[in-house]
Amino acid sequence: MKIELRSDTLTLPTEGMRDAMFSAPLGDDVFGEDPTVNALQVKVAQMFGMEDALFCPSGTMSNQMAISSHISKGQEVICDELSHIYLYEGGGIMANAGASVKLLKGDLGRLTKAQIQAAISPDDIHACESGLVSLENTMNKGGGSIYEATDLQEISDFCKASKIPLHLDGARLFNALVVTGQRPTEFGSWFDSISICLSKGLGSPVGSVLIGNKAFIKKARRVRKRLGGGWRQAGLLAAAGIYALDHHVERLAEDHARAQSIGQICAKLPWVNQVLPVKTNIVIIQLDGSLTSAAYVPKLTQLGIMCAPFGPQYIRFVTHLNFGDEDLAQFEKLIKQI
Ligand SMILES: *Cc1c(COP(=O)(O)O)cnc(C)c1O
Repeated sequence: MKIELRSDTLTLPTEGMRDAMFSAPLGDDVFGEDPTVNALQVKVAQMFGMEDALFCPSGTMSNQMAISSHISKGQEVICDELSHIYLYEGGGIMANAGASVKLLKGDLGRLTKAQIQAAISPDDIHACESGLVSLENTMNKGGGSIYEATDLQEISDFCKASKIPLHLDGARLFNALVVTGQRPTEFGSWFDSISICLSKGLGSPVGSVLIGNKAFIKKARRVRKRLGGGWRQAGLLAAAGIYALDHHVERLAEDHARAQSIGQICAKLPWVNQVLPVKTNIVIIQLDGSLTSAAYVPKLTQLGIMCAPFGPQYIRFVTHLNFGDEDLAQFEKLIKQI
């Protein structure tokens, strides 16, 4: 039996989700005529108390559309050095938006208002103008860390006063909401744009939604077309997204509980130096002494535990809707064999 913990993107659509997909009314979304895509967009915009939303193929595309829509060529994006938009989007900040990036070092990937304030470029022709602040919540490379509401409020107040747009990479935002009890509408009031992923913990096969005001989404729609993301009968996929939002949000708590168990199991292993704080569905372990992930990931894989190297000494496990209690028991049995 293979225990899949490489990512929460490896889930397969449930039967209920497949049924919803097959029965979805469809149309051509480039014409704005796919009723299911439109329903998803309205649903998400309302959920966040924002004006408009746009369904996209991937979280990367949503983030890149947001950056390109907010920023002018020659400006910079301010973000943490562990950000997905910087590390894992193929240099898109530069290649798509013609923008530079100013990297800050946060606490497990989370920035403070003071750090952001200090990083804003002075009004000086020598400087690269600060055009966007981008946060990530939960923070993937920070082990699924979560922002406190007070910090987000402060950062948001500061960005509004400074007239600098604030974007949220919320690929796993629902994981944070389930843990903290924060509401989507609070995020809608703090951020100028938010991207969410439907194909991570929520278990859709494809899809992300970018949320913002009407003028912003209009711009983003043009960018999406330019990137080749103007799709047609995408309602087939939007139906999966609607189903995921209706059925797979509250159950994220189960993924979090199983991630806690994985963390506790790993903390007792002699070859593990430490487990980063487990806040959501991501568990990152640091190997002991000079042990390397290059040596240990293959060992784990051979046992049937699929996991991802996360730097030379770190390994990541991510729980998800196809990882149940039996898998957890099997995980514990197998990993103790090393
Ligand atoms: C997965 C992820 C994305 C984008 O994912 P896609 O694979 O492009 O859908 C963006 N940000 C974060 C934090 C992610 O984990």
